[in-house]
Amino acid sequence: MKPAPAFDFGIVGGGLQGCLVAHAVAWHQPEATILLLERTDELCGNHTWSFHETDLAEGARGWFDPLITHRWPGYRVSFPGLSRRVGIPYATITADRLREATLALVGGTGPAARPGRLVARTGESCEILSPTVVRLGGADDISCRVVIDCRGRAAGGSPGGVGYQTFIGHEYETARRWPAAEPTVMDVPVDQADGFEFLYELPLGPDRVLLEYTRFHEEPACDETRATELIATRLAEADAASAKLIRTERGCLPMPYVAASRHDGPALAGGYAGDWYHAATGYSMPLAVRFAELVARARPDRINAEVGSAAARDGLRRGFARFLNRLLFCLVRPADRWKIFRRFYRVLPEPRIARFYAHRFTFTDAARIVVGWPPAGLAPIRFARSFVSLPRAVPT
Ligand SMILES: Cc1cc2nc3c(=O)[nH]c(=O)nc-3n(C[C@H](O)[C@H](O)[C@H](O)COP(=O)(O)OP(=O)(O)OC[C@H]3O[C@@H](n4cnc5c(N)ncnc54)[C@H](O)[C@@H]3O)c2cc1C
Repeated sequence: MKPAPAFDFGIVGGGLQGCLVAHAVAWHQPEATILLLERTDELCGNHTWSFHETDLAEGARGWFDPLITHRWPGYRVSFPGLSRRVGIPYATITADRLREATLALVGGTGPAARPGRLVARTGESCEILSPTVVRLGGADDISCRVVIDCRGRAAGGSPGGVGYQTFIGHEYETARRWPAAEPTVMDVPVDQADGFEFLYELPLGPDRVLLEYTRFHEEPACDETRATELIATRLAEADAASAKLIRTERGCLPMPYVAASRHDGPALAGGYAGDWYHAATGYSMPLAVRFAELVARARPDRINAEVGSAAARDGLRRGFARFLNRLLFCLVRPADRWKIFRRFYRVLPEPRIARFYAHRFTFTDAARIVVGWPPAGLAPIRFARSFVSLPRAVPT
């Protein structure tokens, strides 16, 4: 007789997706046992994850809301020729809060603590041997009812068919009150250098602010000089040039415009590993939360089928998100990329914006993003020609 699995869930990768799955399972299946494995010394890395509150499924609010660290009733965008306040509630969770809340599931303090339910092991890389077995540090094999691959983006060189969104963010403590109470999600300078670039501003408290430089480019490297210049300009405008730098985060997200070949790893995959992220915005939260909910609510023998059919139902939206990346990286000139975003915020009413970010957009929402007045810069001949030079599926 086969021995009983040691754990109900084996989650490999303790980043955003892995920790969200742990929280969703702990909430919906309080008796389930969870093994959470992270190769670095700490869960969650060093991130500030923002999202529109309308991204979240109602069913997730019970376990997700306690993770939220900051909330704002809306945010601003600012482009040459357009400034707009978007009244969609916006929020953030920090890696510190997610880590603390996840460790509370292991035992110790906090209302969610139920000792023994979740075992978290860090500092050890592990291998997924099958849909139910993981191997720790090249030695111990542990069997689980289901193994979930949350290992993030595969390491390796840059595949064809992607552009990149690169970030460098500095969090500051300011001596005087920061002048803005709400985030500015895109502050687009007039002189666009090579590609689309903007400053992202997140007031995290009266004397705390995260200023993040973002660039959409063909290359994954961040332009550090330009980032320093734009961030320094904003600090000076806010009369906060002497602000104290307390944290830096940086990174690079791929923006694929060609479909990835199907995930063929041995286990069910979520987050970046399983394509559960919004390819056009780079925001992971809407789809990572949806994946966590699907896993935690599915009948044990139906998890793969339910996740698979949810992904298939979303297939057209994923295709449209890639098409938008193609529009950005192949069909408009780098110097004109910013105009696509300005048009988006100029023509779309809030409910359409909310559905787009939440990856729940309709056919009409999609059509309005690219068709109609003013034009989205889609030259028909360039569009037709681009098919000839389009790379094939991106290997994952
Ligand atoms: C600077 C920056 C800002 C961002 N801002 C936002 C934002 O505001 N909102 C948003 O929604 N998204 C944002 N994103 C995107 C988001 O961070 C990622 O998409 C998200 O982290 C992906 O989640 P994941 O769990 O799939 O991968 P990760 O968070 O990368 O987690 C994968 C984890 O698996 C671990 N791992 C890998 N291999 C193994 C192994 N063999 N054994 C054990 N562990 C392993 C890794 O160490 C890592 O901890 C941002 C990204 C960056 C870079």
